[in-house]
Amino acid sequence: MSETIFSKIIDKSIPADILYEDELSLAFRDINPQAPIHFLVIPKKAIATINDIEEQDKTLVGHLYWVAAKLASELGFAEQGYRAVMNCNEDGGQTVYHIHLHVLAGKPLGWPPYQEKLKR
Ligand code: AMP
Repeated sequence: MSETIFSKIIDKSIPADILYEDELSLAFRDINPQAPIHFLVIPKKAIATINDIEEQDKTLVGHLYWVAAKLASELGFAEQGYRAVMNCNEDGGQTVYHIHLHVLAGKPLGWPPYQEKLKR
């Protein structure tokens, strides 16, 4: 897999506002926040897209949600609520090809993301 900007954040060759790190994962604030609180939780293992998650990665992907919930609790927005999502490929809006959980919080978030009428 080709190197991405997130590989450089993992190896600390470029800076990031890191909130949490362990042997499997890293969480850091998004450089272009889309909500009052917006951070990313990524695996240290480079996996390009959701489609590339293999059976042996199932626990690792669950770990990303565990980190999201831990930080939501520590940062004080767990009870108010938040969104934790992964974008996949072009239609999903993915721009960095190293899977990452977006964690967005701090205001009521719109849903659904696609609002064009499907039927006339
Ligand atoms: P996605 O479009 O789902 O692939 O999300 C990629 C996210 O990475 C975007 O929200 C970007 O703002 C964010 N991003 C890109 N480069 C950096 C960086 N150097 N530090 C923090 N966040 C970044």
